[in-house]
Parts: sequence; structure tokens; C-alpha cells
Amino acid sequence: MAARTDNVDDPQLKAGLLLARRGSAFCSRKLYELSDDELYQPSLLSGWTRAHLAAHVGYNARALTRLTEWAATGVETPMYDSPEQRNHEIEMGGTLGAQALRNLSDHAIVHLNVEWRDLPADAWGKLVKTAQGRTVPVSETVWMRSREVWLHAIDLGNGASVRDLPAEFVDRLLPEVVALWKTRGDVVPDIVLRADDRDGLELRLDDSGDASAPVLSGPAAELLAWATGRSHTGLSFTGDDAPVAPRWL
Ligand code: ZN
Repeated sequence: MAARTDNVDDPQLKAGLLLARRGSAFCSRKLYELSDDELYQPSLLSGWTRAHLAAHVGYNARALTRLTEWAATGVETPMYDSPEQRNHEIEMGGTLGAQALRNLSDHAIVHLNVEWRDLPADAWGKLVKTAQGRTVPVSETVWMRSREVWLHAIDLGNGASVRDLPAEFVDRLLPEVVALWKTRGDVVPDIVLRADDRDGLELRLDDSGDASAPVLSGPAAELLAWATGRSHTGLSFTGDDAPVAPRWL
């Protein structure tokens, strides 16, 4: 029999599910605020209209649903068949009618929620593979979804901003982005990020421990906008030239 609530005991995962669902609701609300005409205008992501973005967010939920089904059944179902298939799907999705796009978004959200809700407690640790080829426990799909919906709600470009992001989201993603640059061995600017609204929390991009490294400071959410290549305001820098963040994804 289908469960009525998530089969989850881990409080962190519970909080993660709530955050992802709030994000889906937020993104969906921004999508519904757009008129049919506005839907086919450019999003803030270069080369994509809002329709492409809406299709991508919907297809992303379907892809994460496939990973959840994989964990539930043991039958390997990848997120996408290939990068080409993923891109083609978004390209075609961008040409769908406005109502079809809203339906795609709604249905995809419901389906993913149902799969998460019905996943047995002992299956959340099952390993699946992301589109980037990373092997992760299926519980990771929850955070993957949060990142998509919260950030792409902003990318729709109709009023959502980093200031709308919940602190728990910002506080998890910002250090994650910095850690990814380091693991990947990217060339990062020799600076310190300081979040003024987090008791001066600092993230060092360099490993030199150089006390004189210039500081980029401001609200944590704006630092996240900078780090993920999105527009930001209210940051100040103690060095000469404003530092450019390495590519994130
Ligand atoms: Zn995305």
C-alpha cells in the first residue's frame, strides 16, 4: 500500500525533502506568474528562453524520478540516455505550448514527490548514478532537486532573487561550490569570502593562509550569487580588480 508520508527517519533528510519541496513550490509559483507571452522571452541563462528553462526543470524532475525508481526497483534507469538526448529534450520542450509546459512542470513535481514518498526507508542509501557519472546514494536526489529549483526560479528572471533563498540552502551550497573548485583543481582567485550576515564566516579560496589576501564580503546569499555566476549586489572587495569566480557547473 502506498505510504502517506515519507519513510524517512533521518532528520537531515527530512529537512532536505522539505527544502526541495518548498523550492519546487517556489519555482512553480514564479512560473505561474508569467503570462504566455513572457514564457517565450529570454531567461537569465544565455541561449535559453524561460520556456526552455521550465522544460529543463520539469525534465530534471523526471530524471530524478528515474533515479528514485532505480533505487526502488533495482532496475537501472539513468537520468538521461545521453547528453544529446537531454539537450534535444530541452530544445523540443522549449517549443511546447504554455499550458503544456505548466502541465509538464506540475506532473513532474507530483510524480517525483510520490516516488520519494513511497521509497522504503532502507532504500534511501541505494546507489545510483548522476548524469555526470557520479555514484551517489539516491538520497542525494533531494539536494540535486533543491539546487535546480531554487536557482532556476531566479534564472526565470521575473523577480526572484538570491535574497529569497533560505539560509539553510545558501549555507550548504556556498561551501560546496568552493569545495568543488578545489577538488577539480580549478584556478581560483587568491581571496577570502566573508559572509557579513553569518558572524563573519570566512571561506578561504587559497590554501596559503595568507593573512593579507583580499576579502570579498557581503551577505552570504550574494556571495553565492557571485560563486554560481549569477548577478549580485552589495558585495565589497578589498583588492583592486573585482575577482571573477571560476565556472561552477
Ligand atoms: Zn539545471
